[in-house]
Amino acid sequence: MSGATPAAVAALGFDLVPIDAGTSVDEARTVVREWLDANIPATWHDAVRSGGGVEALRRVRSRGDYEMWYPTLARAGLVAAPWPREYGGLGIPPRLAREVEDVMAPYNLGRLNILGLNLAGPPLLEFGTDAQKAELLPASVLNEYRWCQLFSEPGAGSDLASLSTVAVADADGGSWRVDGQKVWTTWAADATHGLLLARTDTSVPKRRGITYFVVEMNQPGVTVRPLVQISGEADFFETFLDSARVWDRHRIGDAGDGWRVAQATLAGERQMISGPGSGGVDRMFGRSVGRLVEWVAADAARRGAAVPPALRQRVAALYSHDRCLEWTNKRARDNRRASRPGPEASIGKLLQAEHNMAVQETWADAVGARVFAHSPDDEEARRVAYGFLRSRANTIEGGTSEVHRNVLGERILGLPREPDPWADVAWRDVPRT
Ligand SMILES: Cc1cc2nc3c(=O)[nH]c(=O)nc-3n(C[C@H](O)[C@H](O)[C@H](O)COP(=O)(O)OP(=O)(O)OC[C@H]3O[C@@H](n4cnc5c(N)ncnc54)[C@H](O)[C@@H]3O)c2cc1C
Repeated sequence: MSGATPAAVAALGFDLVPIDAGTSVDEARTVVREWLDANIPATWHDAVRSGGGVEALRRVRSRGDYEMWYPTLARAGLVAAPWPREYGGLGIPPRLAREVEDVMAPYNLGRLNILGLNLAGPPLLEFGTDAQKAELLPASVLNEYRWCQLFSEPGAGSDLASLSTVAVADADGGSWRVDGQKVWTTWAADATHGLLLARTDTSVPKRRGITYFVVEMNQPGVTVRPLVQISGEADFFETFLDSARVWDRHRIGDAGDGWRVAQATLAGERQMISGPGSGGVDRMFGRSVGRLVEWVAADAARRGAAVPPALRQRVAALYSHDRCLEWTNKRARDNRRASRPGPEASIGKLLQAEHNMAVQETWADAVGARVFAHSPDDEEARRVAYGFLRSRANTIEGGTSEVHRNVLGERILGLPREPDPWADVAWRDVPRT
């Protein structure tokens, strides 16, 4: 257990539930149950007791209601339970945190700040100074600081280490000036902070000249422009950095060591989108196989007909695959020796991408033609269409499936590394178009 005193934690606005690393599973489950009884609005309790699942909750809880209530969950330490107590967690091991999640599961208490928790948290916890952690982590738990990831560039996606955004230290050493362009920056318009990789030394090979920074997004040097997707939404942005200022106190790790720090973010991202049992969010977008099963059964009851055999077989196969994925993810997580996921997280990322695409496609087939020709008030068709279209990105985001196959081949199976003739050449001497 960390050394944070109760007074220090309370001073940050937290009122942690009485669970710590020494609490037994039964005790922890009882504490969470009592906390839920006392803190969940009565209408949400009624929705859960009705047995109507997430749909029943949705009818009594708008997104706005949830955002208003969310700080109650965060202040209790239940948003990022494994994090140290001084930063808004409970300091409990992942296995105990899973028990806590299990008790909360019927209430569908999704995390609002998933990039902060899964992408910013790991590098800060592993490489950040105490001052950086104290400044950035508790505010992220409370959803006051919201994050985006400024890694990919028009010329650096799979080969991320080729990035060309440049940071130059100011003469006083207190800050850096950053110039470059990032792309596919998810939720950039709403972010208060960005995780930035920039080149600070061009005289060394590409992986050795990168530094990892936190950039404040709300400043004149940062411009974000939306990219409209096939689903009609604009969740992604191009981000332009024109002499953007980054404080040296917001440099995570040493100058030139950013590639190593970035691995913590990439590992957190992989785990986040690895699907059931991954310990991140269960699914990034679209609805889960459990919900598909509920929908198929309800639809058959509505029509007074049996589920068509071909659909039943597809759904049963997806359900089995989902369970295997969940157990594989749990095994990979429980067996890992390091404090963060290693290359084995690529298994979950790879399988989840193809699995989720199959789930959303099956749902679209089951609903039929109205998925893509529906009236504006057909909310069900709209959501199924969104799930189908959004899932097409699953094999690209967080590293493409091809790249994850390379990772598994090289780092798990021990196959020869993919040749890279430029790996040891100074970045400034590598030919670029
Ligand atoms: C929905 C979504 C959200 C995203 N959000 C963010 C974000 O918030 N922040 C961020 O920084 N980035 C984000 N990205 C970017 C994402 O990480 C990149 O799109 C991804 O890494 C692929 O890079 P690329 O698009 O440049 O494709 P490329 O790297 O140009 O790849 C093109 C094709 O070539 C294949 N390929 C490339 N190299 C190899 C290789 N060595 N072996 C075999 N095949 C290869 C790829 O698999 C792919 O099929 C997001 C992407 C998507 C789709």
